Amino acid sequence: MGEFELIERFFTRPTPRAVLGVGDDCALLQAAPGMQLAISTDMLVAGRHFFNDVDPHTLGHKALAVNLSDLAACGARPLAFTLALALPDVDTAWLEPFAQGLLALADLHGCELIGGDTTRGPLNICITVFGEVPAGQALLRNGARAGDDIYVSGTLGVAAMALAALQGTLQLPEALLRQVRVRLEQPTPRIALGLALRGIASAAADVSDGLLGDLGHILERSGVGATLDTKTAINLLAAPAHPTSANGPNDPFASWLSESAALRCVLAGGDDYELVFTAPPAQRAAVQAASAASHTPVTRIGQIDAQKGLRLLGTDGLPLANTNTNTNTNTFTGFDHFA
Ligand code: ADP
Ligand code: MG
Repeated sequence: MGEFELIERFFTRPTPRAVLGVGDDCALLQAAPGMQLAISTDMLVAGRHFFNDVDPHTLGHKALAVNLSDLAACGARPLAFTLALALPDVDTAWLEPFAQGLLALADLHGCELIGGDTTRGPLNICITVFGEVPAGQALLRNGARAGDDIYVSGTLGVAAMALAALQGTLQLPEALLRQVRVRLEQPTPRIALGLALRGIASAAADVSDGLLGDLGHILERSGVGATLDTKTAINLLAAPAHPTSANGPNDPFASWLSESAALRCVLAGGDDYELVFTAPPAQRAAVQAASAASHTPVTRIGQIDAQKGLRLLGTDGLPLANTNTNTNTNTFTGFDHFA
């Protein structure tokens, strides 16, 4: 099968919303009046971001999910995406489920595949998503102010726990491993929550590289600091609540780990693709309403301070660095590919 047959068979779809999809030199999108385009790119490299033998269906899902997560963090509604694909060979038994996983999530969010590029090479998936947001209403990283509450959606650290189990550094019962690896391999982009938080959240980011790293970006861009309550945060290491429930997470998983390992998963584990966001205390009821409307649990885990830097309160409510030097903040930095 040649390049064009492959594109035709797996990646050419009707695009009712886009003016023009796959097949010409460019795709064409019509921006709606008063809307801004939100654009983001994420690349997934075999051996770096996923195991080479990962199920292609879940890989298709994840490749788009991590991109949609960036739109969610900006409060943007998905419109379309492009797919740049390097493949070692044309393997229809791989391409079929990959396209299915990818396009099922795309359909769920009304996000149209409008173009891309296909080449031979080591497996590499690069997606660019296009979303729209009313002019001036995008949720950005620079809007956090002293006194704002800090919230996280869903669960945190579960993907890191799954990764540790798959790498053999953590032993988990089969049934539990099955439950946690779904969070690693098929993250849920929090699109509905991002949309519901427009006009309510003062700043937002998605948690791709660990809470402290990604919250750190908000603090830096906003010129503020924060205090986090680890006693509340550690409860985020839990089975996800049922998607139709706005209650908090259930079934804490922390009992499978030492307290410091659980905390490391929650604070520094990557790949959860939840949203971390801030909002003034006057918006607490509005945040709860956004959570309920989007069927996405949110948990308040701390507060923005005028004083720069990040302070962790331990499970006893005392500053963590002073009470336990083995778990000071320096051991909890977010993931950096070049560090
Ligand atoms: P060009 O020569 O302009 O780079 P190509 O010949 O690479 O165009 O691609 C032909 C058409 O197929 C273009 O519209 C391009 O956007 C689309 N396309 C190529 N690869 C993919 C892919 N993996 N998924 C979706 N569309 C693709
Ligand atoms: Mg090309």
